Amino acid sequence: MKPIQMVDLVGQYARIKTEVDSALQRVIDSAAFINGPEVKAFEQELAAYLGCRHVIGCANGTDALQVALMALGLKPGDEVITPSFTFVATVEVVALLGIVPVFADVLPGSFNLDPEDVRRKITPRTKAIVPVHLFGQAADMDAIMAIAGEHGLHVVEDNCQAIGSDHRSADGAVRKSGTIGHVGVTSFFPSKNLGCYGDGGALFTNDDGLAHRIRRVCNHGSDTRYYHEVVGVNSRLDSLQAAVLRVKLRHLDAYADARRAAAAAYDAAFAKVPALTVPARSTFSTHVFHQYTLRVGDDRRDALRKHLEERGIPAMIYYPVPCHLQNAYKSPRFAEGSLPVTERLTREVLSLPMSTELDQEQLHHITGAVQAFFAA
Ligand SMILES: *Cc1c(COP(=O)(O)O)cnc(C)c1O
Repeated sequence: MKPIQMVDLVGQYARIKTEVDSALQRVIDSAAFINGPEVKAFEQELAAYLGCRHVIGCANGTDALQVALMALGLKPGDEVITPSFTFVATVEVVALLGIVPVFADVLPGSFNLDPEDVRRKITPRTKAIVPVHLFGQAADMDAIMAIAGEHGLHVVEDNCQAIGSDHRSADGAVRKSGTIGHVGVTSFFPSKNLGCYGDGGALFTNDDGLAHRIRRVCNHGSDTRYYHEVVGVNSRLDSLQAAVLRVKLRHLDAYADARRAAAAAYDAAFAKVPALTVPARSTFSTHVFHQYTLRVGDDRRDALRKHLEERGIPAMIYYPVPCHLQNAYKSPRFAEGSLPVTERLTREVLSLPMSTELDQEQLHHITGAVQAFFAA
């Protein structure tokens, strides 16, 4: 059996090596490393895939979140509502801009923002909501857009984990996650569903004016070289990464199918294990399984993880400490106990290996080891 990893990027590369190598060679031969034609072509191809007017590449997903908030004109003292059960990036850029992160709880099934709790957290200072489409499935965007509409709030979708998933609205409209709010952002970190071979990120929007402001912020606040209209940053997607992403974009839907097949094998194996809750599927979103995340009951999560590790099976806890209890972001407004679902999930969740390359033998070994743990 091939050794089991959380993500198998070496195996994935082996199957697209000729395509990737020739794309990289093309960029090196042209020496157009920054803002070259590859970046523009990738932005257009991703926009077409997403069904979205504008895609703007940038240096990473964290920058994309920061640039989105800057381009929307958020100011120090403004409040942004976001989950605490997520990767820290949103909270970090909010804090760096002097904006106040306000945490809403998540739903125990989908792990995504609870729209009712978002509603409860709105104050006169609230300016934006940043839903995170966690683990590969979109948050309830109908509910979130309705709340935002009522209160005149911006919505920035953190789509770093869900690129390619389809969200179906109550009116029947099907749109790609990340293209429903005012701005969507993604990360091309290597292990993401659409990952490059280094750092990369992008913003999506259907709003022409906002697209212009985003490009300006990414480019030192400048429209014309050496003339600066606003405070900006230097955040670019480089051409080598864009060339890799153009190749991988062509495989993205097949990659999602491979992930869903692995998830289905896990589901079937764990259906009869009472202590395990398999990931819920929302009625309004397809799942692209950035992670396959179980909830483990009876306080046995850490013991299961150890059992798997002893059998050569890595398993990860995303996320062990919620943002509101991190030393950097603690505040009396969000004391321990203030987000009960989030806090319970950090004690119960366990993510199993998930990649485009898991084979039957590996899946069998993993599911067998989990079943054996609960049969003992
Ligand atoms: C990966 C990730 C980010 C940050 O992306 P980087 O490219 O690593 O900066 C932000 N939010 C979420 C939910 C992520 O998973």
